[in-house]
Amino acid sequence: MRPQDILMPVAAGLHCKPGGFHIDPVRPVERAVITHGHSDHARAGHGAVLATQETLDMMRLRYGENFARSTQAMAYGQQLRLGEVTVKFHPAGHVLGSAQVAVSCEGTCIVASGDYKDAPDPTCAPFEVVPCDVFITEATFGLPVFRHGDAADEIKKLLASVALFPERAHLVGAYSLGKAQRVIALLRAAGYDAPIYLHGAMEKITRYYESRGVALGDLRPVKGMKKADLAGTITLAPPSATS
Ligand SMILES: [Zn+2]
Repeated sequence: MRPQDILMPVAAGLHCKPGGFHIDPVRPVERAVITHGHSDHARAGHGAVLATQETLDMMRLRYGENFARSTQAMAYGQQLRLGEVTVKFHPAGHVLGSAQVAVSCEGTCIVASGDYKDAPDPTCAPFEVVPCDVFITEATFGLPVFRHGDAADEIKKLLASVALFPERAHLVGAYSLGKAQRVIALLRAAGYDAPIYLHGAMEKITRYYESRGVALGDLRPVKGMKKADLAGTITLAPPSATS
């Protein structure tokens, strides 16, 4: 079977006609396969949603109980027959529950990556290389102009600044789902065990990470804290709240 007969981009998103579903659709569809919980991939209003348990839980947290008509959770490595194709999830190393979707039909395997990274991240399962015939990749930071420094080195810089300016509060902008928890986990891995303060917008998701076994240490809401009491501490807030 030709790859384009298995998966094809259409207005609603990446469409699998022989399987009867879309991957990360941008419009409401009958049947959606969702790679991870970020809002540019996981939207409310679909009929049936197939995703990892963590992605479904995050969609529930963000959109409410009725975000889809029905849901089905799938574990990494599990296979499911949908129409004429077989669907399998593999870890994408992006955020908790993020999955690459492997779609196989008549001996041809296509992997749609969703967002992914191969850098170590203590808050989610590591990226897995999946042998396939066609790889459909996200390329958000694919341009050579993007050169991200080593995460542990960036954490060292932050801790050096906290040590150098004990009279100041340090506010770190990080997306509420994934990035914030990764920064916290990296701070803990670097030996920082003081309380870390959280903007209200990231509390629910962060507590959810903890409930799934991601240890993040002493976390406290920043709400109600006086500026003077935040001297020498680190607070995390979504980028939109830090300007
Ligand atoms: Zn993402």
